[in-house]
Amino acid sequence: MSRRKVGKSLNIAGDTHTHTLACGHAFSTLGENIAAAGARGHRFLCYTEHGPAMVKGMNPWFFQNQRRSVPRVVDGIVVLLGCEANILDETGAMDLSQELLGQLDWVIASLHDTFRPQAEPGPQTIVRAWKAVAQNPYVDCIGHLGNPRMACDYETVVRYFKEGDKIVELNCSSHKVRPGSDATCRQIAALCKAYGVPMVLSSDAHFYTDVGEVEWGLNLVRDLEIPEELILNLNYDRFCAELKRRRDIDLPR
Ligand SMILES: [Zn+2]
Ligand SMILES: [Zn+2]
Repeated sequence: MSRRKVGKSLNIAGDTHTHTLACGHAFSTLGENIAAAGARGHRFLCYTEHGPAMVKGMNPWFFQNQRRSVPRVVDGIVVLLGCEANILDETGAMDLSQELLGQLDWVIASLHDTFRPQAEPGPQTIVRAWKAVAQNPYVDCIGHLGNPRMACDYETVVRYFKEGDKIVELNCSSHKVRPGSDATCRQIAALCKAYGVPMVLSSDAHFYTDVGEVEWGLNLVRDLEIPEELILNLNYDRFCAELKRRRDIDLPR
């Protein structure tokens, strides 16, 4: 992808998708991730650990206790405590209760190998799952939609996300860890632009050096000339306003 020169530098105010060694397949602590966010000049960090359906995923008590344990602001970084919930089947069932999802700051819904049937679900099944997820009031963000292993009619589902008031993540790890994602993510970003669906750029970091690593997504935003207003985490105040609107959360300004 070409790196078009732009007049002003573009960057995120905070990463919306990160993991820690708590999940068993990531390698940094929450403190290290927060320090990395600070080093990048971010204002906030979303901590979004895996739900319980994944191998070594977190149990509900983990998500309840993170609120009691982690301050809202740590070393100047606003910490949003959320999850990356697993979509279990085509009814949109999730691996955490609606009550718990409603208590979190930020909920990403993702398709992983925990989705049933496990053996390569067809595109129609995927579309039905996303349609149901789009109607779940406690889902904020759609995780790595561009995974080619879970491909579907993207135009149809992006329209569901528009109707359901969802935010679509441009996962900036996908092009590295989910082969073929470059083209699908580009297609999804173009559709979100066309339908006015808000997006966020995330790293899906599993190590602290990746926190805030979204250069791939910034290039996509420039290449597709996506209006900055559609990328919610390019601006802290815009992200705060979105959290206030969605969940009535007042983040420190
Ligand atoms: Zn994921
Ligand atoms: Zn993740």
